[in-house]
Amino acid sequence: MATIITSECINCGACEPECPNTAIYAGGAEWELNGVSSPALSDEIFYIVPSKCTECVGFYDHEACAAVCPVDCCIPDPDNLETEQVLLERARALHPDQTFPDDAPSRFRKDDGAATAASGNGASANGAVATSATVAAPAPPPAPATAEPEPVKAAAPSPPPPEAPATAVPPAPAAPEPTPPVTAAATAEASKTDGAATPAAMATAAELSEFDPATWEVPVVCHVCNASYTLPYRHFQIGTVFYCPSCSASFVPNKTIYEAVRKLFEGFYGQRKRQREEFERRRARELKIFEECQSADKQAFEQALDKLAHEMKPAGKLVKPRGLAAMFT
Ligand code: SF4
Ligand code: SF4
Repeated sequence: MATIITSECINCGACEPECPNTAIYAGGAEWELNGVSSPALSDEIFYIVPSKCTECVGFYDHEACAAVCPVDCCIPDPDNLETEQVLLERARALHPDQTFPDDAPSRFRKDDGAATAASGNGASANGAVATSATVAAPAPPPAPATAEPEPVKAAAPSPPPPEAPATAVPPAPAAPEPTPPVTAAATAEASKTDGAATPAAMATAAELSEFDPATWEVPVVCHVCNASYTLPYRHFQIGTVFYCPSCSASFVPNKTIYEAVRKLFEGFYGQRKRQREEFERRRARELKIFEECQSADKQAFEQALDKLAHEMKPAGKLVKPRGLAAMFT
């Protein structure tokens, strides 16, 4: 059977990098096989592509995703029972460049190396139910001639998965947000283009900083302890694992969450920025008109003053200098 992820998934993302078949995807992310992309099987939580899951047969003696899942929500799919042989053939089809011997690691042979079709994980007790291994991968090589009946261990206990690690290794953050930050330097540079103050150049640095995604914080409420905390927007990417500062519970944005946050932030600040730029443009136009009026008024005033100076003809007679003053005139 393929492994499935139940609705209890908390989107911590710990399982995704563990899968040797890249069968696990974040909610909303398209899955891919042989270069062909297909729509997501879940928009909300991580999911497993059945046709890519081999229950780790060929790689491990346990399901790697189940081993790291902190809430034990990676479980065998009771509606999709598959034999070890089918799963081994799938591993061969998925990895044609690798060799998988018949006794490759398998959860079916965890204890003594013998195939145990009834593994206790819900596998068919006699291996008779073999659903089609419909992998859209290159045709698998012919099945080896070792199709001998598998011994049945009816009461074989389920092999306990290894202890789940306390922390998941977060995937590397994706590229920074495409929205270019608005900087004072950039706006000052822009202001040189037409000699007039540009809208952004007229805003203060504090006003501009709010448009820089590096300053944005995403509020989060912990799903375990209800504590409120914030996450830097620039690191808020699909699949990134964050931890609650109060209880260390993980928080992993899936595609739906990421797009909702991004839409809200960029919608709000995008519109706000456009409104501010329009206001600053209007203010710059009005200031220019005002300055031109003031300048024209000043010029008219000075012309009137000059004209008045020439027109002033006061009454009076010439006073001739006398004494010493007369010697120097
Ligand atoms: S059981 Fe193994 S192959 Fe299947 S999804 Fe989990 S890690 Fe991948
Ligand atoms: S490890 Fe995390 S992401 Fe994967 S199934 Fe479990 S809770 Fe979901």
